[in-house]
Amino acid sequence: MTGSVHAAIGAAVGSLTRNRVLAFALGLGTHLVGDVVPHHDMGATETPLVFATLVRVAQQHGLNSPQFWGALGGVCPDFEHMPAEWRQDPRRFGPMKEKLFPTHNGLVKHAKWPYAENWGVLMQVVLFAVGLYLSRTLNELHSANAGSAND
Ligand SMILES: [Zn+2]
Repeated sequence: MTGSVHAAIGAAVGSLTRNRVLAFALGLGTHLVGDVVPHHDMGATETPLVFATLVRVAQQHGLNSPQFWGALGGVCPDFEHMPAEWRQDPRRFGPMKEKLFPTHNGLVKHAKWPYAENWGVLMQVVLFAVGLYLSRTLNELHSANAGSAND
């Protein structure tokens, strides 16, 4: 999956526990599954959306929430792609043995999307929305002013 989808799914899985360490570990697990499921990758251009997703999850649930730690666990393996992106390494679109995560170094096969690109993008959008929905990140923002006398 693309990074923002990894973050959204990680947040959803993180919401199943109250333990941040477990949420992070579950997030890592969803990254492995998400990379193996056939998908269309969007590449480094979606980096702002990855960080926006993390900010939104933190804004909704807090930095100490299992949702945030699940999202971080879900997306953090993809941060190891950044050095290769920065130096425009010609091998960066395939497995690179110096990477650590099994789906990034070829230990576990990173599946390719077999259908038209539009369907791949649509699947990512749907999974992104479902992940944010299940993690309750799309709910109205918790506000310290909610229910105040000025309402
Ligand atoms: Zn990955």
